[in-house]
Amino acid sequence: MTREVPVHPLFSPWGRFGLYSFFIDAPEPAIVDTGIASSPAEGMVPALEKLGRRIEDVRWILLTHGHIDHIGGAYHLWELTGRRAEVVIHEADAHLLRSRRAHVRNYLSVRAGYLNDPQGEASQTAAAEAVISGEMEPTMTVHGGETLSLGGDVTVSVHSVPGHTAGSVAYAVNGRDAVFVGDAVQIHGAANGFPGFEDPDAYRASVRHLLDEVRPRRLYLGHPFRRSDGVAYEVELDAEGAREALQESLDIEGRVDTAAHGCLCAGLHPTDSVYSPFAPVADELGYRGDPTLEPSPFFTTLHGYRTRFDAQR
Ligand SMILES: [Zn+2]
Repeated sequence: MTREVPVHPLFSPWGRFGLYSFFIDAPEPAIVDTGIASSPAEGMVPALEKLGRRIEDVRWILLTHGHIDHIGGAYHLWELTGRRAEVVIHEADAHLLRSRRAHVRNYLSVRAGYLNDPQGEASQTAAAEAVISGEMEPTMTVHGGETLSLGGDVTVSVHSVPGHTAGSVAYAVNGRDAVFVGDAVQIHGAANGFPGFEDPDAYRASVRHLLDEVRPRRLYLGHPFRRSDGVAYEVELDAEGAREALQESLDIEGRVDTAAHGCLCAGLHPTDSVYSPFAPVADELGYRGDPTLEPSPFFTTLHGYRTRFDAQR
């Protein structure tokens, strides 16, 4: 029987919502996700001091995926550890750690096509410059299936859970005691009230894998994701809360799938709606969020259904 490993949430404010990193107090301490450029110095250093721990002793920087609010602080945090921490990310998201421009290319390839914002590329470029503390090569890339040792009897298994991004992973401490999923479990989304995933089939399979196979005893989310009624979940859930969040994520994805499928079968018709060409989806789901505000998962998610629909024809 292994002892329970203490986990401490570390909060970073950002834009319209906050994001959570987690300190795993193992013999080789780890931090899961890094917030934005300012998070390590302004948030993590004082938070660890309060716990009687030092940032320079952190030996693992475990990144759940490559989005800006999760990898933004990675370079600074790595510097604060004297470059001694391992920096771990899935190979499919590693380009987002290596290059600020990769984030802008992502925007240009999907959302720019729907948002009609002449300043879009410039503001994405400025955000990547401000929020990402530095471009860097990960010291370790993973694919899922690996086991990492955090010293003593603490192990972390890596699960590939693509969908939100292609390189999303879950880190599970000692089997399933504490499972960190970043944004791989969306429920009803964070600030925008819409779940964000690039690949709907992969997303559904990943949530199912977490629900049926991993079965977390504790589940840690990257943001206070909302329920259908708008009330936010805690970022730390017990086994029952985890099951509920995973099942609700599947139910919501099913409803979005049905609405998207209907809209795509009827053919896409551009209109003046801010949701164009997916206005019927927003109508059917009763969605009233502003799809132009960052981060804007509405178009990312519906583009994923559109891509699948086009591929099946
Ligand atoms: Zn994300």
